Amino acid sequence: MRRWNGWGDEAISVPLGPDARSFLERALGPGQPQPDASLESTLASLPASALPQAHPLITTEPAERLRHARGQSLPDWIALRSGRLGWAPDGVAHPSDADDIRALFRFAADEGCRLIPYGGGTSVTGHLTPPAGGPPTVTVVLDRLAGLHHFDDRSGLATFGAGTPGPAVEAELRPLGRMLGHFPQSFELSTVGGWVATRSAGQQSQRFGRIEAMFAGGHLESPAGPLEMQPFPASAAGPDLRQLVLGSEGRLGILIDVTVRSSPMPEDERYVAAFLPDFERGLAAARTLADERVPVSMIRLSTPHETTTVLAMAGHRAALEVYRRYLRLRGIGRDRCLLLVAITGDRALVRHAAGRVGRVIRAGHGLVASGSFGRRWAAERFRSAYLRNGLWDAGYAVDTVETATTWNRLPELALGVARALRHGLEAEGERVHAFSHCSHVYPSGSSLYTTFLFRRAAQPDETLRRWTVLKGAASRAIVDGGGTISHQHGVGRDHAPYLGAEIGSLGIAALGDVARRFDPHGIMNTGALLADEAVPR
Ligand SMILES: Cc1cc2nc3c(=O)[nH]c(=O)nc-3n(C[C@H](O)[C@H](O)[C@H](O)COP(=O)(O)OP(=O)(O)OC[C@H]3O[C@@H](n4cnc5c(N)ncnc54)[C@H](O)[C@@H]3O)c2cc1C
Repeated sequence: MRRWNGWGDEAISVPLGPDARSFLERALGPGQPQPDASLESTLASLPASALPQAHPLITTEPAERLRHARGQSLPDWIALRSGRLGWAPDGVAHPSDADDIRALFRFAADEGCRLIPYGGGTSVTGHLTPPAGGPPTVTVVLDRLAGLHHFDDRSGLATFGAGTPGPAVEAELRPLGRMLGHFPQSFELSTVGGWVATRSAGQQSQRFGRIEAMFAGGHLESPAGPLEMQPFPASAAGPDLRQLVLGSEGRLGILIDVTVRSSPMPEDERYVAAFLPDFERGLAAARTLADERVPVSMIRLSTPHETTTVLAMAGHRAALEVYRRYLRLRGIGRDRCLLLVAITGDRALVRHAAGRVGRVIRAGHGLVASGSFGRRWAAERFRSAYLRNGLWDAGYAVDTVETATTWNRLPELALGVARALRHGLEAEGERVHAFSHCSHVYPSGSSLYTTFLFRRAAQPDETLRRWTVLKGAASRAIVDGGGTISHQHGVGRDHAPYLGAEIGSLGIAALGDVARRFDPHGIMNTGALLADEAVPR
């Protein structure tokens, strides 16, 4: 059963180990756990549904409304764990086909309601929750539009219902000898339609590409009519409308079918872990691998802070201390950076690429570590999302910010974001632990993903205030440092105020015009991606 107020399956628990706990106590001070609100009391406190009319496709059942009220951002967690929702959808629909969706569009236009498409509900940037006080809202859950509808084996094209979650996508393709290869850390719950709507990037984007590279076409049902996107391998027939749907965040309509480009199942996969003496040499190695197009499926480089944190929180303290001493003897000291590289393909390719990766690491005075580092990371890569539950229970709040920029700006940007976060709560005497990695590496630059932890306060409102200060400081540092406001999580409501700095007033106006063309009555997820005033009425 899915947890109603945290991440993942209720049956899976990843508590904070003793080494991790003492590391955080040293970094931040003792955690301040507070009891969570119960499901019953949270249900009892839901505002009454303001839906003006009943509709056969819409339920107003409180548990349904609660379970679809929030995504997975830290403000979402604070609301759910404290039982103070502030806002919940007035109704929930689970449409089964395009006819149902058209009926919901008609209802929303007639009754002055808003619709919010909901895939896996894993948004971390406020896509799914408008501020309280707006029009009555129906959350449109796409779980009945799921499964593999068609597979064209000659072209490798697979058409899925947009609500198909990650594990089901791979499970459908595996017996056909194929895979998609899109593995965001939220893989367990996020859906193929959500990936397209947020322009998601999976952990092995180096081989399989971001979702943009996989998204071949599909069917969008919009309030202004259907948009059929044909799965041409390429086209010069004017601007590519698929690019408009990618990242549309539910503003233009509801994706019903998504056709993706699958890949053959690889023969082999290897994870190489290495330590580089410092971040500069780590970046040089990552850049070389991307620039030379060495056929690897993942490059992930941690800053010295993240490397120290990962090693300290992993447990196995005695064994790691011996290893640290060994690294020091080899000239890799406190500034060491962990580099993880995955190589996926046929055996000959994996062998060849592993050879080149090893040479690049050695040229950077790095040391290839034992295979167990990489294997352990791969085995735990989806489990680590569960650590958020353990951190919360131990009294710590955790969130992430992410961006991308060109190589010339990256080192300064990394410093700027970490600095903004670390000093963000100085005024109240609270410390913040922030650390970063580059995990999607391109010939011209890289993504930068920063995790930050701080102590929860006695009151949820104060925890939320701390988050607001930190998120604002990090977002400003990203914009000022020349980074994009999002490399992979999307804009939602949390990043919408920063989009203008990136795409300019003409860009905002053009997107507003497009939103109006697809959604003339303003019923689709208003306020996400574009602030309301950006859309002409
Ligand atoms: C622990 C964790 C790890 C994460 N790791 C990654 C990562 O590695 N890479 C990454 O890219 N993201 C990551 N994310 C963010 C999130 O998982 C992605 O943004 C994901 O693509 C959202 O998919 P979803 O199905 O959950 O969409 P939802 O959260 O349900 O919706 C997101 C947005 O898309 C719209 N939408 C959803 N489905 C449709 C549809 N069928 N038609 C039209 N609009 C739709 C919604 O209206 C909303 O605006 C992570 C999140 C968490 C909580």
